[in-house]
Amino acid sequence: MEMESLFGIALGINPPWEIESVNFSKESKRLDIKIGFQRGATFPCPVCGAQSPAYDTADKTWRHLNFFQYEAYLTARVPRVKCPHVGCGVKQVEVPWARPGSGFTLLFEALIMALVREMPVNAVSALLGEHDTRIWRILDHYVKGARDQSDYSEVTRIGVDETSARRGQDYISLFFDLDQGRLLFGTGGKNHETVTAFKEDFVLHKGVPEKVTDASMDMSKAFIKGITEEFPNAQITFDKFHLIQIMNDALGKVRAEEALLFPELLHGTRYVFLKNPENLTEKQDAMLTTLSYCHLKTGRAYMIKLALQDVFFAANREDGEARLKRWYNWAIRSQIEQIKKVARTVKNHWNGVLAWFDSKLTNSLVEAVNGLIQSAKRRARGYRSIKNLINMSYLIAGKLDFRLPT
Ligand SMILES: [Zn+2]
Repeated sequence: MEMESLFGIALGINPPWEIESVNFSKESKRLDIKIGFQRGATFPCPVCGAQSPAYDTADKTWRHLNFFQYEAYLTARVPRVKCPHVGCGVKQVEVPWARPGSGFTLLFEALIMALVREMPVNAVSALLGEHDTRIWRILDHYVKGARDQSDYSEVTRIGVDETSARRGQDYISLFFDLDQGRLLFGTGGKNHETVTAFKEDFVLHKGVPEKVTDASMDMSKAFIKGITEEFPNAQITFDKFHLIQIMNDALGKVRAEEALLFPELLHGTRYVFLKNPENLTEKQDAMLTTLSYCHLKTGRAYMIKLALQDVFFAANREDGEARLKRWYNWAIRSQIEQIKKVARTVKNHWNGVLAWFDSKLTNSLVEAVNGLIQSAKRRARGYRSIKNLINMSYLIAGKLDFRLPT
């Protein structure tokens, strides 16, 4: 068998296309495969599909998968056809091994898409010897195509959060389908308009805003406003872990202030107060007991934190609300300014805090995905644009079907 036929089979080149020559160059470490077509062949008109004869040709080159250490390139005489139907005009035909406008074969693009899942784009770029903007363009194309196919008609429970884009200065907002665990939409900024942008995109993907019954988020004014306006039937649940985080931050400040007054008592206790009693070492437990005898604010603040956590162990909403009321009365009378501030925050978000008993929603999934996005960002030493970061987020969490050739 001729080498040309072997490569024809390996590459899936079918008539009327045929391999004209295969050329290895040791000096440039290149494999060049020339593709032509049979004399008198006809091709479908890209506008109407009618078989039409070639009118003229132009040479085009695509990068293909490496052949061992050789970079492989396909070059083809690509015909333009003159369709018999008036109005179609003279058009370049589509080739089966690449999509229009791309300088890579479909298989090479599939390789790129497989690599960008495993390593940072700049590493892919170095590995393949291609400029990273070309790699980002491929990613952008496949993400767009796959998102066009996505259907949001069954989405009823959503989660929203922001994550930092560049050194904490810029943010992107991310919207999730909490049942499917997939990223639905990402956009720059963290104001309430991001929710409007999400709703518009949601509707484009057959989402029905009125069908959304629940939204999980932290206590962000912007997201509360946006969700209330754009998703009128969504019950907001405030993430309970975020609430506990606010409480821990307040406790940390109380401890830090008091440590200045009683350094001998509170030195080295910073992490003790973040733990729950069952996780304390014997020594830490003994120290807490000592502290509680000393009537320190820190000791009281710690007890108030435990009581807040305890709210979420209630059997039902009614019991939970009773516990939250008791907690609030304790916290607001604590005479510890940081703790009173948390109490007021809870009061202002009362229903959304208690909504957890009905929805059982948290932002755990959202936080986990944010973690993955941030670690991808760190490995890449940042992204040049917010668009790149969002495309990477879709790649990580969009559960997109890229329909790539294999
Ligand atoms: Zn035509």
